[in-house]
Amino acid sequence: MDLGIAGKRALVLGASRGLGKAIAIALASEGARVAVCARHADRLAEVARRVNGVGLVYDLSTEVAAAAAVSDAINQLGGVDILIVNTGGPPATTFESTTEAMWRGAFDGLWMSAVGAIRAALPGMRERRHGRIIVITSIAAKESVSNLMLSNSLRAGLHGLVNALSKEVAADQITVNALMPGFQLTERLVELNVDVSAAATAIPARRIGTAEDFAAVATFLSSAQANYVTGQAICVDGGVMQSI
Ligand code: NAD
Repeated sequence: MDLGIAGKRALVLGASRGLGKAIAIALASEGARVAVCARHADRLAEVARRVNGVGLVYDLSTEVAAAAAVSDAINQLGGVDILIVNTGGPPATTFESTTEAMWRGAFDGLWMSAVGAIRAALPGMRERRHGRIIVITSIAAKESVSNLMLSNSLRAGLHGLVNALSKEVAADQITVNALMPGFQLTERLVELNVDVSAAATAIPARRIGTAEDFAAVATFLSSAQANYVTGQAICVDGGVMQSI
């Protein structure tokens, strides 16, 4: 199936590894011109080479930095048609162990960076009357995961942003959706010491997801065929969360 992605300009944030990297590869394989953004120049350069695209080194922990990364991508690609909003997960805490500085840091890194990136990408999308915005959140936004106070709270809030923004821009043929990973085997899970086989037994599909499983859904949401899907939060989790 031709997904209508060939020639579209895509910016994938948080793309030096994991889900962002897999999405960048998937979009490039559909013929998109891809810019990838993350902090680590070496790893990023490798991904940029792999997708035959542009590597943009930015620390996306503020609104200003995220907006600058999008402007850079617009300059280098001539525009951004597909924006994948993604960054690293905040540290694990409980309510009582979360300091004010942690709340503010996570708010800037997870929330305001999304706002900055979307704010910078929207004018061009509106002008062209076409756009795809996909915000990577987490199933923690639907049902809290223990010890992930910052992620549980802020990602649920991002779903409110996706919902409200999708209505504001729908008439300009811009779709805005959230995509929720469940357990996808990335370096992050390894670093968090997740017991993969124990986790798999609690998943109806009886396996941990792959970054490629996740990227395939992001690619569909980026496609021409997904033009009537907006304001949705979709789980890619092997059946852990149910919406019906
Ligand atoms: P990851 O940690 O493997 O990759 C995150 C990417 O974002 C990397 O490229 C990293 O360099 C980049 N990044 C992190 N902080 C950054 C910053 N300040 N500026 C620029 N780039 C930055 O994570 P992942 O597994 O690919 O997950 C992506 C997102 O999805 C994360 O927010 C994660 O918390 C969330 N998530 C993942 C899972 C999962 O199963 N993998 C589950 C739920 C939620």
